[in-house]
Amino acid sequence: MKIAITGGAGFIGSHLAAAYLERGDEVAIIDNLSTGYIQNIQYLMDNPAYKSRLDVKIDTILNPRVTAELIGPADLVFHLAAAVGVRYIIENPLESIKTNIQGTEIVLDLCSRFDKKVLIASSSEVYGKHLHAPLVETDNVIYGPSTKSRWSYAASKLMDEFTALAYHSTKGLKVVITRLFNTVGPRQTGAYGMVIPRFVEQALKNMPITVYGDGTQTRTFTFVNDVVHVLMELMKHQQAYGEVFNIGGTEEISIYDLAQKIVNKTNSNSVIEKIPYEQAFKKDFEDMQRRVPSIEKVKSFIGFEPMTDLDTILAHTIDYIRKTLQ
Ligand code: UDP
Repeated sequence: MKIAITGGAGFIGSHLAAAYLERGDEVAIIDNLSTGYIQNIQYLMDNPAYKSRLDVKIDTILNPRVTAELIGPADLVFHLAAAVGVRYIIENPLESIKTNIQGTEIVLDLCSRFDKKVLIASSSEVYGKHLHAPLVETDNVIYGPSTKSRWSYAASKLMDEFTALAYHSTKGLKVVITRLFNTVGPRQTGAYGMVIPRFVEQALKNMPITVYGDGTQTRTFTFVNDVVHVLMELMKHQQAYGEVFNIGGTEEISIYDLAQKIVNKTNSNSVIEKIPYEQAFKKDFEDMQRRVPSIEKVKSFIGFEPMTDLDTILAHTIDYIRKTLQ
């Protein structure tokens, strides 16, 4: 099969590319390297067994001609190109909105014209400021004001979902929408704010662990290999077209407890420092206090759930970051 991946040099995209190449499929990637890194896929490009089956275009999905060249020959399209990371989005609001809204529109339009099966990566951010758990796909959304730029990410991802569902209902586009909760694993960078790689690197360097706010906010974490497996499975299920799925872990942990766990697991001398949000972000920030998915729907469609527990996720991530620091 021919697989097209937008954002294929990103953290999740690069793992997805590796999984399809390992299976013997052909993979074409487009990535503008805004938050992706060529190093994420260099090892795939250097692998002699993959060379003839991997095509990498360094370009933006906002370029319809190049994006059409990618999507035209594909059997399956995974649209993962997006501005990611709360810190990045707050610092680059306009570019983030353009990539997320115009970029997705271009991809969906091409998939519709070429009659392609497509999966789009949405985000747990679309739920907004809920305090209840678990979050179900049919829950309402609750956002802060437009003066808090964090919510532009949620709103743009929600607009992507509306657009995808409209293409499905009006043009019969075979599209699957996935809301990814906090995904973790090797090659994820802390540079755009992601908490686990940041805490692990701080712990390994015996630097203070930067807990924002009072640390009572909670998250669940999913291992990237599990996410990739679920994405690949969902594309095999015809009933999944036109549907929205949560993909996430189920072990809820507070950010303070996460920091403590990482300090213990790395035998670090780091102290845990609580940093007020105004100091961490300067402006426009509002955190989400709680974020736990219901994964009943995805389980009922594909028959399994993400398997890797938090301790194992942390073990893999610590191991990887330790090696990069050597
Ligand atoms: N966080 C933190 N310190 C950091 C980075 C993140 O306390 O150095 C917190 C952040 O405020 C949020 C949680 O960790 O409550 C998860 O942040 P991340 O940016 O990884 O993902 P989010 O769930 O916010 O999209």
